[in-house]
Amino acid sequence: MGDSVYGPSNPWRPFCCERCRQIDLGAWASESFRVEATPPSDPDEQAPLN
Ligand SMILES: [Zn+2]
Repeated sequence: MGDSVYGPSNPWRPFCCERCRQIDLGAWASESFRVEATPPSDPDEQAPLN
């Protein structure tokens, strides 16, 4: 344990491994997605299907 995991030889250096990086980016993405995913509450904003 220690420096070797977070050393320059580790391509995932901000994280300990690819899995942890994916988890962190995934959490960040879902957080921002949740903010932008707010559906329009105004029915008039929705285009008519016919
Ligand atoms: Zn890890």
